[in-house]
Amino acid sequence: MSRPVILALNAGSSSLKFELFAADSDETLGHGIVECIGRDDACVRLHDGKGGNLPVPDGQPADHAAALQLTLDSLRAAFPDIRVVAVGHRVVHGGVHFDGPVIVDDEVMARIEALDPFAPLHQPHNIAGIRAAGAAFPGVPQIACFDTAFHRTQPLVNDTFALPSRFYDEGVRRYGFHGLSYDYITSELKRIAPLIAAGRVVIAHLGNGASMCAVQSGRSVASTMGFTALDGLPMGTRCGQLDPGVVLYLMEQRGMTTDQVRRLLYEDSGLLGLSGGLSNDMRTLERAGTPEAQRAIDYFVFRIQRELGAMAAAMGGIDALVFCGGIGENSRLVRARVCERTEWMGLEVDHGRNARNETIISSEMSRAHVMVVPTQEELVIARAARRLLNLPGQGG
Ligand code: ADP
Repeated sequence: MSRPVILALNAGSSSLKFELFAADSDETLGHGIVECIGRDDACVRLHDGKGGNLPVPDGQPADHAAALQLTLDSLRAAFPDIRVVAVGHRVVHGGVHFDGPVIVDDEVMARIEALDPFAPLHQPHNIAGIRAAGAAFPGVPQIACFDTAFHRTQPLVNDTFALPSRFYDEGVRRYGFHGLSYDYITSELKRIAPLIAAGRVVIAHLGNGASMCAVQSGRSVASTMGFTALDGLPMGTRCGQLDPGVVLYLMEQRGMTTDQVRRLLYEDSGLLGLSGGLSNDMRTLERAGTPEAQRAIDYFVFRIQRELGAMAAAMGGIDALVFCGGIGENSRLVRARVCERTEWMGLEVDHGRNARNETIISSEMSRAHVMVVPTQEELVIARAARRLLNLPGQGG
């Protein structure tokens, strides 16, 4: 008999990440990524539930529909007896309307499409993923999980800019992103450390995209990302917080077009820009040891420390700092440096625990906990599908 499974999809601009879950538990059967969609070097990688490599068919997908087809061909070859009972999608923008996951129907699809102008670099790819999955699995329910939904609980002072209020009314707000990651970390804390989960937690999601969130009693009260995924911390290639006067200067005095400014802020800035074009990859910067690489790391760390203070202030204190994301989960250097000079907040790292990547890396003397919790955004999607479709199973 075929095995019912849930497929979680995360469609980016040039990549499609996917993970296959058992329909009745948190068990992952396989995961992978199609990279460089639309380019000659496009390829698919597939791993089993334990991280081992699985064979994949050749193919250079030209678009997201072709990438999904290649994904399905790979999964069907590797898991011949599966039956997809739900497809879950990461959708970057849910606007003011969506404060949780939903089953996609025509009305939901229209609302997601209407949010295109708010996230023009991401939303169209999410929509392409939903359409491609709809064509590949006619009649199979699709679930949309929004990166903004977790933050809809934020109070007005964190949700608004100091613009005339009509702009707030038309949707110019601080939405915050990385919500699936924060949702997962919050649920995982409830499981492994319920007392901490009930308190004041700052989560630092540090990957190629990076942001921080203040979570009080399990609810988001502040975050560093704003209207778009540009604000807050510097990232691999994105600038993070920037005086809007810089944009006016670039356009008025330097004559840059909106396309040029967009490319500058999204693709040429952050760690890549600060390191003089060396790399957006923290591993490369840590190895390089050049003054330019050092400058990029110094700025990254400093801005995390600044925002750590801001997030703690939004909650009137801090009971735990949790690191996640590729850098947060792996870079002992960044973690140690972020926690330098934070004794005033009651944070002290135990360098042995930090070097061993333990779950709790704070010292016995530390008043607040410092933790490393690997995030699992795709699992949040699978759990949402199980919940919305009333599928039997344990977990989340
Ligand atoms: P994305 O936001 O694209 O999902 P990830 O969460 O995978 O990105 O994070 C990618 C970042 O994590 C890169 O900057 C990479 O260099 C960094 N990273 C991964 N492993 C390590 C490591 N061992 N040490 C330092 N940085 C690491």
